[in-house]
Amino acid sequence: MNVAVLSGKGGAGKTTVAVNLAWLMHWNYIDVDVEAPNGHIFLKPHINKRDTVNTLVPVVDEDKCKLCKSCVKACAFNALMISAGRLQVFQELCHGCGACVLSCTHDAITEVERPIGIFEHGQFNYEQNGSQGEFLSGLLNINEPMAGPVIHSVTQMISSDEINIIDCSPGASCNVVKALKIADFAVLVTEPTAFGLHDLDIAGALVKTMNIPSGVVINRSKPEYDHKIVNYIETQNLPLLGRVPYSRKAAELYSEGRLLVEDVKYHAIFGAIGRILSAHLNRTDKSLHKIRKDQL
Ligand code: SF4
Ligand code: SF4
Repeated sequence: MNVAVLSGKGGAGKTTVAVNLAWLMHWNYIDVDVEAPNGHIFLKPHINKRDTVNTLVPVVDEDKCKLCKSCVKACAFNALMISAGRLQVFQELCHGCGACVLSCTHDAITEVERPIGIFEHGQFNYEQNGSQGEFLSGLLNINEPMAGPVIHSVTQMISSDEINIIDCSPGASCNVVKALKIADFAVLVTEPTAFGLHDLDIAGALVKTMNIPSGVVINRSKPEYDHKIVNYIETQNLPLLGRVPYSRKAAELYSEGRLLVEDVKYHAIFGAIGRILSAHLNRTDKSLHKIRKDQL
């Protein structure tokens, strides 16, 4: 079962919630925040496989090209243009869909692989008992705009039927949508600020549109500031999975690349969140989600 952890905004504490839950609850951890993956800092996995992620881009044989523009019209991403008497390919805009190859009746286009990132596979140690969780992560090359194929490569590697915590990109972009397509449940991480509420609303609308059941974790919670978030989730009929209190101790642990659950107070808090989340996962109708995913 795949549990996506997302937040409408960056810095809300999505990775904090994801890594602490994965470690404490003995769940697998999948980092698809491929523009800035940082789960490895906290889980310190042993990586046993690392490979390049490629995408396909067209190459034009100018001797065969008749400049007929069929491929230009077929490209939905404006990655092709005829200029200065030749067909130009803008590789950064290319989605590797292959429509241009199919459209060319002059056999003037072939495809080559272009590296855009890497994926990693490994294990991390759980608490005390020596057992290990699966760790998957992707990293997009610097200056690459196309995160989708890297996210796809990582999610394709998920093999476990156990609970997989998927640490999504921040925001509600197509990178998040790509990860949500395989999600059975979404954990929406927010913080008790006006920005937090605004972006929670966007993330909540996204999972609702995709018919994914969800619950909310309030990070950096302070009782005197939480009421707006609590009012919101009550009006939206969203379950509150728990609150992670703001403290200097939490900030210190995070800044040292350590898990919050090393602290006995946060250990208990994440344990409670994990148990509440588990109860919701047990109630999630998997057959309903199979139907939903088949429709996507
Ligand atoms: S469809 Fe083929 S021949 Fe026509 S412009 Fe594109 S590459 Fe050239
Ligand atoms: S592979 Fe698809 S996106 Fe890339 S240039 Fe060809 S038609 Fe455009």
